[in-house]
Amino acid sequence: MGTVQFMSADRLPTADLPDSPQARQLQAGFAWLAFCPDLEAEFRRAHFEEKLVHTRVNLCVAVVIAMAFSVMDSILLGPELNRVPSMIHMLIIIPTLLIGLASSFAPQRHRIYPPLAMIASSILGLGVAAIQIIAMRGGMPILFPGLMLIVIFIYLMAGLIFYHAVAANVIVLFGYLAMGTTLQLPGREFAYDALALVVANLFCASVVYLHEKTSRMRFLEACLLREMVARDGLTGIQNRRMFDQHILRVWQQAVRAEQRVALLLVDIDCFKDYNDRYGHQAGDECLRAVAVTLSQCARRPLDFVARYGGEEFAVVLYEASREYVAEVLTRIQRSIAELNIPHEASLVASRLTVSIGAAFILPSSSRTHEGLIQLADEALYSAKEQGRNRVVVMEAEYHTLRTGRFEKRQRAV
Ligand code: GH3
Ligand code: MG
Ligand code: MG
Repeated sequence: MGTVQFMSADRLPTADLPDSPQARQLQAGFAWLAFCPDLEAEFRRAHFEEKLVHTRVNLCVAVVIAMAFSVMDSILLGPELNRVPSMIHMLIIIPTLLIGLASSFAPQRHRIYPPLAMIASSILGLGVAAIQIIAMRGGMPILFPGLMLIVIFIYLMAGLIFYHAVAANVIVLFGYLAMGTTLQLPGREFAYDALALVVANLFCASVVYLHEKTSRMRFLEACLLREMVARDGLTGIQNRRMFDQHILRVWQQAVRAEQRVALLLVDIDCFKDYNDRYGHQAGDECLRAVAVTLSQCARRPLDFVARYGGEEFAVVLYEASREYVAEVLTRIQRSIAELNIPHEASLVASRLTVSIGAAFILPSSSRTHEGLIQLADEALYSAKEQGRNRVVVMEAEYHTLRTGRFEKRQRAV
């Protein structure tokens, strides 16, 4: 009897994931909380932005708490013993928190904040450790909880990634040990506090490790989900949903920038006959091969290729010159011919061929993107009518077409 596999409800199935850096990373794992360099940079930015508001609030609260502790310390330690601690509060702790807060508003904050916050956290921790040591030497060992609080703050509230938080806390721990040893603090009490500090670090690090691992998993899965929603299941290129979004965006951008746009609709000739002759699976293979070929024919960063539906594909060329459109059209025809896929049932050739309808226009605000699609569709229809296996480009017709949804609807006044 076959076994039934249950899938965890909150995990993406790893089989059949699209071939992407995210999928490879998910399969390879990330026990050391590190992705490949490009993904790592993307994750850190997303992680930082996700926590930004929370981090800013935490920093504001920390400033208020630091002020409150400054007052408490002065009451507990008295004016003589509190002389240096009050300077540490006023000149180091509070300004460092304010600098951290200000850097979280900088335009390049996702680059500036993480390293700065790591250094600032170490300085904060060392400042608090110094206050605690001064108090202990003065016979007031009661300030130790303040040091614990700063450890928790650095791990959980400063918006740092795991390794930065660990690094800052290790600096604080070693600084504390070095200051305590140099100033010969009472042995047993100091050893007890140092041990408590190590244990607090282990507890917090373990919580933050797990939390960041989950965040990384969520990040990869969200990327993959976006990718899967955008892709056509059979061919792996962008799907109709993405085409609809893209063409609208490109249209609006082209109207603003007064740039020409070309839309090519590529339709396989006599594909029904191909399926009938060679079978549906061979038809699927054929669609994949054509999709790959089209993607290779339009490779500029702003070029876009999608499966429009069935055996029809769409190529959008933004900011395209007439020469570039002609070049892409020639390239597509040549590459399809080079695929050399036998099609004995075709009415036009013994090999697989395509017909292409191309619309090439300068968009204007009085027209809609639907008009562009309609024009390409009419060009394709014309190519089919003229005998298939050919290209028809429509440009001037754009200004004369008044049918369908080409004209932008006038608002009623
Ligand atoms: P024309 O030259 O006029 O374009 O003729 P055609 O046969 O290519 O066009 P028609 O619209 O009559 O048929 C399209 C065919 O494409 C019918 C359908 O079975 C096939 N098709 C659509 N989607 C898929 C698919 O995902 N896989 C396969 N194998 N075939 C598909
Ligand atoms: Mg067809
Ligand atoms: Mg068709």
